[in-house]
Amino acid sequence: MLITETFKSLQGEGPFIGIPMFFVRTNRCNLRCAWCDSTYTFYGGHEVSIDDLMDQVNTSHCDWVCFTGGEPLLQREALDFVRKLSESGKKILIETSGSLPVKDYTAIRNAFIDMDIKTPSSKEESSLYQDNLFILRKQDYVKFVISDEADYDYAKRMLPGLPETLQIVMQPAWGKDLKWLAEKVLSDNLPVRVLTQLHKIIWGEVPGV
Ligand code: SF4
Repeated sequence: MLITETFKSLQGEGPFIGIPMFFVRTNRCNLRCAWCDSTYTFYGGHEVSIDDLMDQVNTSHCDWVCFTGGEPLLQREALDFVRKLSESGKKILIETSGSLPVKDYTAIRNAFIDMDIKTPSSKEESSLYQDNLFILRKQDYVKFVISDEADYDYAKRMLPGLPETLQIVMQPAWGKDLKWLAEKVLSDNLPVRVLTQLHKIIWGEVPGV
């Protein structure tokens, strides 16, 4: 597997925010979001075998593994790795852009999917693999990163078409106004959670945390 970095940290986003996790950040992404904060994953990287990764996971003593990128589902061994983690009793949070099929991963009970729905400011809103929306389970969630009014309106328009059981997160793009977004959601009574990026509040905008 082509890896950018592995590290232990607190989950920074989504409903599992604050949980200690072992992060496996893969290299390469098929998208180029305008506000990407992981551009260092686009190039370079180093090969690590699944066995080596499993050793690192086991010595971390974390119950959770966050499988992230880049785009982790691009890796040829991604499904094997997630299955192995699952068989070893770990809970796995898969952070994916929503542009690749997630069906095989929804068959793994202790894998949880954090799937982006890219908003217009990303310039990648056409990348969504639509079928994913209808196979995500109650334990999975989708996330809209909101940069401006146009993103908010886009996300709001999509909500009625999403399955009722799906958990939905809105998160301001880093540096954007959290209070503005919170007040919009409250005023419009949207059935979503508003969250921000905890790891950046704690450690700043640096890789490896
Ligand atoms: S999907 Fe993620 S890693 Fe890929 S370009 Fe977009 S923000 Fe960056």
